[in-house]
Amino acid sequence: MSEIVVANSFMEPVASVDQALARYQKVKEFVSKILKEDVDFGTIPGTGSKPALLKPGAEKLSTFFGLHPIFEILEKTEDWTGDQHGGEAFFYYMYRCNLLRNGEIVGSGDGSCNSWEKKYRYRMTERICPDCGHTPVIKGKQEYGGGWLCWAKKGGCGNKWLIGDPVIADQKVDVVKNPDPADQVNTYLKISQKRSMVAAVLVTVNASDYFTQDIEDYIPEGTYKDVTEEAAPKQAPVPKKKSDNSKRPWQPDKLREMLRKKADTYPKDYVVDEKARQQFAAALDQFTVGKRKPVQVELGLLESTKDSDQCYLQAVMDWLCASWNSDLQSYLVEKPVVLEELALVVAQFDSTVDSLPKDEKIIAELGMTEGY
Ligand SMILES: [Zn+2]
Repeated sequence: MSEIVVANSFMEPVASVDQALARYQKVKEFVSKILKEDVDFGTIPGTGSKPALLKPGAEKLSTFFGLHPIFEILEKTEDWTGDQHGGEAFFYYMYRCNLLRNGEIVGSGDGSCNSWEKKYRYRMTERICPDCGHTPVIKGKQEYGGGWLCWAKKGGCGNKWLIGDPVIADQKVDVVKNPDPADQVNTYLKISQKRSMVAAVLVTVNASDYFTQDIEDYIPEGTYKDVTEEAAPKQAPVPKKKSDNSKRPWQPDKLREMLRKKADTYPKDYVVDEKARQQFAAALDQFTVGKRKPVQVELGLLESTKDSDQCYLQAVMDWLCASWNSDLQSYLVEKPVVLEELALVVAQFDSTVDSLPKDEKIIAELGMTEGY
């Protein structure tokens, strides 16, 4: 994404301190006076982090700075029949957004999207009205008597049922594979462009102080909610309890237990995104300094992540949650994760020592090599 600039001699700044301050002030004012919450940026409940820059906000910022986006496709996979993907159609797009100002590229960002992201790959089945066939039949609001409702305002027939009525209540609501992923090809394409543009704008106008990458498209962990909940009155999101975090770092046993619990929240036939899997391997390489494979096994995975249980792998990936920092040219993770990672490396070393014949064990413990 970002290039490493090698300076032969002392590198002159391209702007004076006053200019930089003035620019900083302008961005700050623009953000506070022009951009609107829930339109230009949004806060994702439960993340507690910086708000995410949304597409309209990215567009306004780029207009403000006189930037013109040009998209370039970097990678594309269109497997309509699923021949290359175990019989399941697969679409993947990666775009680069170059931002031009006066005809010159002043910044760029990459973004991808694929049809196996949970949001696109799975669907909730919906309760259907037995009288008119309208979907979904929703739960009516308590103040209007509750029960089930074929909502006339949304094109239904207006029929109502008591909450326990088996005609509606016994209909199975389930997570199913999206039967027609090809219908959304244009969506995958647009979303990857959008992600690349937001990334490009964030970097180019230095708006990362205020916003993060837009993650509204990603379904957060385990949130296949019943569609009927959407009809319920909106309440302020309850902040997640951090009780588990308070006991961190976890020892390897506890960590594996937590990972297994997390893995159970993924659908049985879940498959980890290929790019994400490679990124995970790269990040793990960095943190385990040459001991990735044994640490993987210690974590409960196989030596090959590809052959490992995919739900469990995704849980491990959620746990590591490494983000690439281009300034440091390094992956970053949260502190408890670093400590848990260290415990795994140590545990791995301990088990090596235990499995060695006695003499070698002593040598290993003393940190000697056989040459001594
Ligand atoms: Zn109806």
